Amino acid sequence: MDFGLWTVDCGLSDFMKLTFLGTGTSTGVPSIACDCVTCLSADFRDKRLRVSILIEHAGKTILVDTSSDFRQQALRAGIKHLDAILITHCHVDHVFGLDDIRPLNFRYGAIGVYANEIAWTDLRRIFQYIFNPTHFGGGLPQLIPHRVEHNSPFCIGQDLEITPLEVIHGKLPVIAYRFNDFAYVTDLKTIPEDSLDGLRDLDVLVLDCVRIKPHSTHLCLEEALAYIEDLKPKKAFLTHLNHDILHERDSRLLPDNVEFAYDELVVEG
Ligand SMILES: [Zn+2]
Ligand SMILES: [Zn+2]
Repeated sequence: MDFGLWTVDCGLSDFMKLTFLGTGTSTGVPSIACDCVTCLSADFRDKRLRVSILIEHAGKTILVDTSSDFRQQALRAGIKHLDAILITHCHVDHVFGLDDIRPLNFRYGAIGVYANEIAWTDLRRIFQYIFNPTHFGGGLPQLIPHRVEHNSPFCIGQDLEITPLEVIHGKLPVIAYRFNDFAYVTDLKTIPEDSLDGLRDLDVLVLDCVRIKPHSTHLCLEEALAYIEDLKPKKAFLTHLNHDILHERDSRLLPDNVEFAYDELVVEG
């Protein structure tokens, strides 16, 4: 098992390994043409590809979102195989790497992709060439579509229960995923009451926090910390960070059990 360069032992149950493939907002950090202190920072923790995580558990490898940086992330993390891909929602930063699963298809065949009904409608429209091919000659991504529903758990492998929980991103219902005692909750402004109940008793929570100041469709720092205070995970990591957040300077704003995530961070237990 590759234990990675930056490892935090958080006591995740069942020897789960979480790798942050990307922790940046939709533009990535640095942002094109920006000369701000974060975009010019030499700290590797201020370099953020678009958000995505990899979960490894009991021999299964699961990707959450095929970000616009998926190819680069897969090469950087040495991804050799995926057992499933979970989609949070169909916004560009989360899905535009979908075509780059093809090298894995060529080796291992089709991959199961899990998304809610709204995301499937958009995925079928945006990636029409995958679902309604107009030419022959191969080279298309191969997916096995699965529809997920709020609070309807499913299993991948023997011991990994995955519970989709709906959160609200502006007006768009987005799927957060709980994996045993870990949850990945990105791209949201509000968490409905029954989803909150599904996010209690966590070892590790990864939560959206786009910036310090309020935002119309994402959690800002104060809102993210308020949810963490309510949910009381043992450990929380903030992700989907934009260039307002300078890792070292702004880490002083966080309580002891909360950290800003950064690319290539590995959490395991
Ligand atoms: Zn996003
Ligand atoms: Zn900047």
